[in-house]
Amino acid sequence: MKFFLLLGLFFVVVWLFRGGRRRGERGAPPQPPAAPSDDAQSSSESIVACMHCGLHLPQGEAVSGDAGWFCGDAHRLAHDSNKPR
Ligand SMILES: [Zn+2]
Repeated sequence: MKFFLLLGLFFVVVWLFRGGRRRGERGAPPQPPAAPSDDAQSSSESIVACMHCGLHLPQGEAVSGDAGWFCGDAHRLAHDSNKPR
């Protein structure tokens, strides 16, 4: 009885091995992981941090200043006024 169990196990292993090799020989190109479109859009725009308050916001909504990015003109002006000249 044990012999038949081993024989069955052997055939299962051979079947799995041959199936795996056949899949490999076919050389199917690995498909890239499907990313949600929303995720791709948000990742295309980088997130910047306000130099004054540290708020993180998309670069498109940020205001660029001399020191970096700011969440608005008020913080850009406040940061510039704090800067010793
Ligand atoms: Zn800010």
